Amino acid sequence: MKVGVLGFQGDYEEHAAILKGLGAEPLYVKLPEDLTLVDALVFPGGESTHFARILKKYGFVEALRGWDRPILGTCAGLIVLASEVIDDDPGLTLGKVNIKVRRNAYGRQKDSFEAPVRVKLGGEEREITGVFIRAPRIVEVGEGVEVVATLGDGEPVGVLQGNVLALTFHPELSGDDLFHRFLLEMAKASSR
Ligand code: GLN
Repeated sequence: MKVGVLGFQGDYEEHAAILKGLGAEPLYVKLPEDLTLVDALVFPGGESTHFARILKKYGFVEALRGWDRPILGTCAGLIVLASEVIDDDPGLTLGKVNIKVRRNAYGRQKDSFEAPVRVKLGGEEREITGVFIRAPRIVEVGEGVEVVATLGDGEPVGVLQGNVLALTFHPELSGDDLFHRFLLEMAKASSR
């Protein structure tokens, strides 16, 4: 199973390491053509404005709009995958997940924090440590979107729509592989 990791910014090496640990073959995607080689794709975190600029510059926008393989997006990845970003648009929203998002929404003093996150995904239910780094907030969950991870008293921090899984936190930094495992399962279920 080949899984692409957009290799421009963020923790792409950590994502690749987790995928390798699960027996998949990670491939750093740098050109839209690379998408034809992979069964699933990871959008790492970083800076969504920068991410948006690069995806546009290298011609990814059209290629990704028509791409229907499973995707896992974290943090800035979630922002770019969302249908709407309020206040501070990064310059590109792919609309793969029907959510409204606010960037850097946890306030300056809490720009980065760790907190327990409840996950309910693919028959698994457990608590993990969520690593939030200048994280966005999901302020509205639209139709067709399932909440799969929550913070505190139920705030959504992980969502699934079809085969697109998007998280506001960084599982690649806490070493939790359940989201990547789920990505591989989705890819297997729909393998060509
Ligand atoms: N704050 C970043 C943004 O708004 C996201 C941070 C991250 O990906 N860790 O784009």
